[in-house]
Amino acid sequence: MAKKRETKYIFVTGGVLSSLGKGIAAASIATLLKNAGLKVSILKADPYINVDPGTMSPLEHGEVFVTDDGAETDLDLGHYERFLDESLSQNNNFTTGRVYSSVIEKERRGDYLGKTIQVIPHIVNEIVERIKKAGEGNDVLIVEIGGTVGDIEGLPFLEAIRAMRVELDKHHTMNVHLTLVPYIKAAGELKTKPTQHSVGELRRIGITPDMIICRSEMPLNRELKDKIAASCGVEKNCVIESYDSASIYQIPLLFLKQDILTPISEVLNLGELKVDMSNWDRLVKRVIAPTKEVKIAFVGKYVDLKESYKSLTEGLIHAGANLDTKVDIKWCDSERIDSENVEDTLKDVDGILVAGGFGSRGVDGKMQAIKFARERKIPYLGICLGMQLCVIEFARNVLGLKDANSIEFNENCKDPVIYLIDTFIDTNGKKQIRTYQSPLGGTMRLGAYDCNVKENSLLSTVYNGAKKIKERHRHRYEANPKYREELEKQGLLVSGESNGLIEVVELKDHPFFLGVQFHPEFTSRLTSPNPAILGFIDASLKHAR
Ligand code: GLN
Repeated sequence: MAKKRETKYIFVTGGVLSSLGKGIAAASIATLLKNAGLKVSILKADPYINVDPGTMSPLEHGEVFVTDDGAETDLDLGHYERFLDESLSQNNNFTTGRVYSSVIEKERRGDYLGKTIQVIPHIVNEIVERIKKAGEGNDVLIVEIGGTVGDIEGLPFLEAIRAMRVELDKHHTMNVHLTLVPYIKAAGELKTKPTQHSVGELRRIGITPDMIICRSEMPLNRELKDKIAASCGVEKNCVIESYDSASIYQIPLLFLKQDILTPISEVLNLGELKVDMSNWDRLVKRVIAPTKEVKIAFVGKYVDLKESYKSLTEGLIHAGANLDTKVDIKWCDSERIDSENVEDTLKDVDGILVAGGFGSRGVDGKMQAIKFARERKIPYLGICLGMQLCVIEFARNVLGLKDANSIEFNENCKDPVIYLIDTFIDTNGKKQIRTYQSPLGGTMRLGAYDCNVKENSLLSTVYNGAKKIKERHRHRYEANPKYREELEKQGLLVSGESNGLIEVVELKDHPFFLGVQFHPEFTSRLTSPNPAILGFIDASLKHAR
């Protein structure tokens, strides 16, 4: 039997304020360690009370990221996957709400044998167990603690990492603290005081940082770094700067330049760590200074809140980097597009992208954009709702089914070309019940499913001739098979199927028109861009020429 790996843990906390890029810092360290040949995984522990982010509005919390196993997770997990090029699972993200619900469940079951259940030890132990579970089978687990040190709700998580430091042998845990070093314009100076206070707060609860990562607008000089080392009690080579960069993908390289792996290896006793980031470096150069450019219309209803499309905008960057192309996004608010202005809005773009979404707001504008792409033969990629809407648009304007709709928008429409996922009408008009049980319950179809690819289709070309692909889902509704024959007869072909469900549609006689029920963006990584997005950008480039 193979020797069980002894997992070592790097805990990443954040101080001073939120949005400093803790997730990126954690993912960057993970990337470097993986590149050094270690088996690395990463976990986000979120102190908020929601059981998972699945029900949170994108306006509140940015995108909901979906894993292969159908977990609806924090968007930081997306960064982890994109950096680490590994698929994570529901074990890689948990919240206070999940911790409490499982402790309460155990209490109801009598597992605690009549004991009084308390934050210490029961909640903290549950957190520790979950951290260890995520670490199983890895050399190193990076654990990012959400929120900012000093938040009341974060205390049990910090207590858990304090307790793990005590419990585990020497060289098995490392504390990395990310803080802000603000630049005060009037004084013309970078200030270290917030960092000192934040570290003071950490020490007060019994946590000593081994490394400080300083987020700042500009590079720190040696003197300032030494001052932070002295005032915070860390080694000089353990003060790492993370200044504003043109691309988040530069951060691992910035860390590497500061030789971050040497102190990490010293603290965790990992031996000599050699990395080769040359491929990464090559791609980053193409992110920052590509030689070509395409303009893509991104049609959505959250254009003021781009965080809610994070994976997709990153997916466009990955495709661009791999094609040495800058993807210039023209954000188009779907609520503002109508038949009058659609031409003006979209006449200067090389490709049109309609992203996923829920609810009827902005749907008409999206269909105007789709009609424009279809008729003017502009490369089109429709994702999830963007696929469903191209079926509706085609049914209305080509098949002449004026009342075609999704029952999401009109439950009683005459032609429900998009139908509810767990109550299908089969081709005989009989009701058929199929229920998708996501691992976390609920009625959404979540996570990765196989999709059979039709030979000689655009989908097949895009996926390099693959017969079967696997992509992730997050939706309730499906294209109704009752209309399939008629749609195909008129030129909207079904090129991808999953267990009889219509997964992909594409237009005959169009340079690139693809509607996918899945979310290709969830599997796109810098080093392996998603084929559907890559194909779309490639087609848009050709269109531009
Ligand atoms: N609202 C649609 C559905 O539930 C599409 C969802 C999406 O785009 N993610 O099926």
